Amino acid sequence: MSRAEGAPREVGAPDEALDLALERIARESLGERMHELMARLFPICRSSTGDGVRETLRFLGELVPLDVWEIPTGTQVFDWTVPKEWNIRDAYVRDAAGRRVIDFRRSNLHVLGYSVPVAARMTRDELRPHLHSLPEQPDAIPYRTSVYEPRWGFCVAHRQLASLPDGTYDVRIDSTLEDGSLTLGEAVLEGESDREVLFSTYVCHPSLCNDNLSGPVLLAYLYQALRDLPRRRYTYRFAFVPETIGALAFLSRRGERLRSHLDAGYVVTCVGDPGPYTYKRSRRGDTLADKVASHVLRHHASSESIRIHDFFPLGSDERQYCSPGFDLPVGSLMRSMYLTYPEYHTSLDDLELVTPTGLASSLAAYLRLVQVLELDRTYVAAVTHGEPHLARHGLYPTLSDKRKDSEVTRIRYLITFSDGRHDLLDIAERAGEPIWTFGPAVRRLLAAGLLHAQEGSP
Ligand code: ZN
Repeated sequence: MSRAEGAPREVGAPDEALDLALERIARESLGERMHELMARLFPICRSSTGDGVRETLRFLGELVPLDVWEIPTGTQVFDWTVPKEWNIRDAYVRDAAGRRVIDFRRSNLHVLGYSVPVAARMTRDELRPHLHSLPEQPDAIPYRTSVYEPRWGFCVAHRQLASLPDGTYDVRIDSTLEDGSLTLGEAVLEGESDREVLFSTYVCHPSLCNDNLSGPVLLAYLYQALRDLPRRRYTYRFAFVPETIGALAFLSRRGERLRSHLDAGYVVTCVGDPGPYTYKRSRRGDTLADKVASHVLRHHASSESIRIHDFFPLGSDERQYCSPGFDLPVGSLMRSMYLTYPEYHTSLDDLELVTPTGLASSLAAYLRLVQVLELDRTYVAAVTHGEPHLARHGLYPTLSDKRKDSEVTRIRYLITFSDGRHDLLDIAERAGEPIWTFGPAVRRLLAAGLLHAQEGSP
């Protein structure tokens, strides 16, 4: 019976299947598709809680079957309390002629996130303390939010603020702050091992692209690629949570599991611009996550387009995952990092700053991370007294090949360093070659009985 008549397809090794997934990025224009998904998510007014998060998870749910958790207002998570739920329908500042001079319908960034409701008439000078702008970036609307202190306000371009005429204004914020819940999404792809890899992103910023819509969009496509692998060694956990309070609530449910099962994790944010790759190490700095990320970047990008930072206690949810009580092996692989690029947390972080090319190349970097994790394990060579006679095992080419990157060179590295103390990643580093070139040589040595996987290596 031929394959076309329904014979089972050969089950490929995860690293080979990931090579195919990498080829699909260009062939299926995944960068463009990610960008289109981002454009659909862009108008939704997200915040730490509320219907914007739910709607976002519904959209993402078309690609990722999410378990959605609702955690009630008032729930204690470690030192924090789940806040009241915030929702907004409309907001504006209207001049005496009835024109909406500041209009939530034009950009949801115009409203200070978590603004309490307001309906008042006031002078420009009374309104002024509630207006936020960036004098140094006069055309950008800043992104501001105040979840834990009741306030109201509007964010505007400084140029507009400076030219706002004297007069009286109708000010309206049609929002609600009520007991409700915090919404989180999770998906898991089971692997052959119960050892886990975590990818965590956040879903709480309004119309902002690099920070942060690029994260959930990339993660949705990463999920699809990993779901389609014929085999996975690792179990992959995906978290789509509001930043900080959502990550804390996620840890309150999953923290102990992750402490005992997590081998590597990454916070996925700022992955959509075409800027240099940035890797922020875990707090420990020498975890598998760190080792894998620096290997990927060294071989995936040119050296002038790589930045590697030690952990620092600003940034995103790695602050929670790496807090001393959890101390998880979680880093963050980004492009232009939050806080460092001028468009960050302003209306300039938009659908133009994030490009299909940026998204596609970041997805490729994340697939490489997975490929390294799937390949990396510790092997033990069978022949340790002298080299094995490779020709006798059919592992020596009939034509001599002295190139350093040849298959025979890789085989020599494998039989020399597979002593139970060096994992495959160490060996690839020694050879100065990406680990993903070693898959075929490992398989040939395993088939010849010259290598076997060390017990206990996942
Ligand atoms: Zn942010």
